[in-house]
Amino acid sequence: MSARGPLKTTEDYEAGEDNTFGERMGLIAWISRDYLAKHWIWFIAAFIFMSIEGAMFGALSYMMKPMFDRVFVGGEADMIGLVGLIFFGIFFIRAVAGIAQKTILGRVSQISINELREDLLRHVMRLDGSFHQSYGPGYLMQRLNGDVATINSVWKALITGAGRDVVALFSLFGVAFFIDWRWTLVALVGAPLLIMPAFAIQRFLRGTSRRARDMQAGLSTRLNEIFTGIVPIKLNTLETYQAGRFASLADRLLAVRIRAAAASAAVPGLIDIMSGMGFAAVLYFGGSEIMSGEKTVGDFVAFFTAIGLAFEPLRRLGSLSGTLQPAIAGLERLRELFDLEPDVRDPADPKPAPSGVPEIRLDNVHASYGDQAVLRGAHFTAEAGQVTALVGPSGAGKSTIFNLLTRMIDPSSGAVMLDGVPTTEMRLEELRALFSVVSQDALLFDESLRDNILLGRDDIPEEKLQAALDAAHVTAFLPDIDGGLDASVGPRGSKLSGGQRQRVAIARAILRDTPVLLLDEATSALDAKVEAHVQEALETLSKGRTTLVIAHRLSTIRNADKIVVMQDGAVVQQGVHESLIEKGGLYADLHRLQFDGSE
Ligand code: ADP
Repeated sequence: MSARGPLKTTEDYEAGEDNTFGERMGLIAWISRDYLAKHWIWFIAAFIFMSIEGAMFGALSYMMKPMFDRVFVGGEADMIGLVGLIFFGIFFIRAVAGIAQKTILGRVSQISINELREDLLRHVMRLDGSFHQSYGPGYLMQRLNGDVATINSVWKALITGAGRDVVALFSLFGVAFFIDWRWTLVALVGAPLLIMPAFAIQRFLRGTSRRARDMQAGLSTRLNEIFTGIVPIKLNTLETYQAGRFASLADRLLAVRIRAAAASAAVPGLIDIMSGMGFAAVLYFGGSEIMSGEKTVGDFVAFFTAIGLAFEPLRRLGSLSGTLQPAIAGLERLRELFDLEPDVRDPADPKPAPSGVPEIRLDNVHASYGDQAVLRGAHFTAEAGQVTALVGPSGAGKSTIFNLLTRMIDPSSGAVMLDGVPTTEMRLEELRALFSVVSQDALLFDESLRDNILLGRDDIPEEKLQAALDAAHVTAFLPDIDGGLDASVGPRGSKLSGGQRQRVAIARAILRDTPVLLLDEATSALDAKVEAHVQEALETLSKGRTTLVIAHRLSTIRNADKIVVMQDGAVVQQGVHESLIEKGGLYADLHRLQFDGSE
């Protein structure tokens, strides 16, 4: 595990070992088994077309022999038409086969990459809250898009011809071998020189790609921070500072990329050198045989055409390792994410969630975020169907109680119970279906107001929606919004005010109609009229539900059935407003502070 969390970082990659050949094969086996194997029929079809396309290279070089020996040298004029026709046929078949195999593989690659990305998204959404706190949206977006895209680049390389190139090489060397096997061996004299450097380059590229992928995720995190924080950045004139932070990481990535580009250019370069040696050697060795008439000019031209045509596929295959290494790094990183399992998950033997309006009880609950203990033996009951308010200084652990109830985190000891059943013994989906959470930072999507309230449900009749809008006092602000219900709310609801966003959340909660309501009161003051609207909406909403409210302003909870006062992760007082004021203590102190003796 690295300092940041469970995933490897650039530093880990720099310090760590390269993965073994077995591990790399394991990754390829995984992706083939889970995402490619089911398309086997298409692979066979693509392979057939590739073979046809590749074989046409061999045919092309072989046709040089009759063209020279019979037409040019032999002077058989009546052969011109036939030879020309065969040449045309070869090009035509190559074109058709090329189109067919690219289309087939293109389709399979897009389908499998989509599946991979969707699976990954589903998986990452299941991971714990703590994971998502360690890895921000920018980072994860890069992993979902960038790492998957590297695999896409392999697909592209394959589609643009790796398979065809292999077949072409076989057919071209076949022709060369057929014409003269000794010449062919001579042409390959340089090949052994290639092996060692090629391996070293591959290893180097693998290392740089792993680091580059992580740096890219880092860059993406920074961009996300910058754009979500653009207002404070402008207000504090942090543009230069932020641009500098971005540039320092971007420069490191640049350096890695430049080295990687040089390394991947080296492989085709080496192949060129090898080919040059081969050419010279054949000319030296074979030239005399042609001059002496042992071989025909046609043999010579066909041989050299075959070897000449083999250059391009060889160079392309050589540069493929430059593409393959980042893909292996991408696969490794995808697998690493897939291998993480959430700590918060469904129990093996789940109990049914309460069916009515439940009582909530915390029994000596301890909880922590990482090493930081946050709740230290919290203990209280929120009666069924009543309103229980949580108050206390900031950092006392109030929000943590919401996180425990909805199992964003689990207690380290003690139990959080609904009608006596610990939350950890219910299925997550059933548990979360019991709660509606209303807070000012309600999550709004860049869609219309209507879509933001319905959240994909299409079974809600218009009257019911209207009633919810009225009860949540959304109707009251609709006339102020251009386009009304169908207006777009902007990214994260930026076109709405805090009070409006909160009322959208209330409307959602009314439609969701769950037995338990978790309210996180607005921290910023709303104007008196809006405040009254929101308060009224909340009161209607909480009727007949078990309601827990985190109260920041004590004025709103005077009528709560119970007030639970928290400090430093424990419950220090509980009771109703009057008795708490009477008894004195933290609540009475907080109350005095807020109202400054005005009552
Ligand atoms: P409250 O809602 O009463 O203000 P919280 O429950 O939000 O308090 O937080 C209690 C303590 O837990 C605080 O000290 C806060 O810094 C810490 N805390 C809250 N969330 C996290 C988190 N995700 N990771 C680490 N510490 C956290």
